[in-house]
Amino acid sequence: MERVRPGGRVRAHRGFHRHRRAGGLRPRPAPVPGRRGVSGVREPVVTVPPEAAGLVGGGPHRALFLDRDGVVNVDHGYVHTPGRTEWVPGIFELARAARAAGYVLVVATNQAGIARGYYDEEQFRAYTRWVHARFAEEGAPLLATYYCPHHPEAGQGAYKVACACRKPEPGMLLEAIGRHGLDPAGSVMVGDTPKDMEAAAAAGVVRRFLLCGPGAEPGESAAGIAVASLDEVARTLVAGAGEAAPAAGRHGSRAPLA
Ligand SMILES: [Mg+2]
Ligand SMILES: [Zn+2]
Repeated sequence: MERVRPGGRVRAHRGFHRHRRAGGLRPRPAPVPGRRGVSGVREPVVTVPPEAAGLVGGGPHRALFLDRDGVVNVDHGYVHTPGRTEWVPGIFELARAARAAGYVLVVATNQAGIARGYYDEEQFRAYTRWVHARFAEEGAPLLATYYCPHHPEAGQGAYKVACACRKPEPGMLLEAIGRHGLDPAGSVMVGDTPKDMEAAAAAGVVRRFLLCGPGAEPGESAAGIAVASLDEVARTLVAGAGEAAPAAGRHGSRAPLA
């Protein structure tokens, strides 16, 4: 696996592609399209018709996968109410840029607060519907939010399980890819922990960005590009929307990637 380069910036992503093409990453086999049912993965929260969230045409569709705590909302710890919600700077701008560039938006979040009994699944789902409404108001409707309510040690009752969905396991992403007909190789992950990067890599998501906020430790085991802000990710998606446009002046005269 690659390591996040301390101070690394988004311009590294072309090299990242080359690395993958050279066989540096070994994603697990893609799920059979249309087949559902990664064991134990919860039904996602969905609030708008898929077409309204950008899932139009035959696909396969590219997705921007977002971790939630630390990427969508500031991670104040087990946030599950509007009152404690503080948006991460640039999240709505990133969401709009991604939609404009043809990506659908999918959140995948570990919610150990459910396992620990801090709030229940209905509370979580109600809060998530509110989050979806905010994204819709901002002009970037979310396709779905996937969540893992489990925890292998701290979970209570049936929630105490080593599941297939808690990141770094890729279950939520694989479920989303299969259910919505997403193309992992054309998709992007933004997370704030190595677990997010590992889950995405295991699901075959090629472009991965690790948001390195205060307290983050880039470079541990994460296979991703370190970025200091969501704005950096947005600029990359916008630049990539022209796809064949070469990144002039960045790394010499290498041919643009297909
Ligand atoms: Mg997080
Ligand atoms: Zn789980």
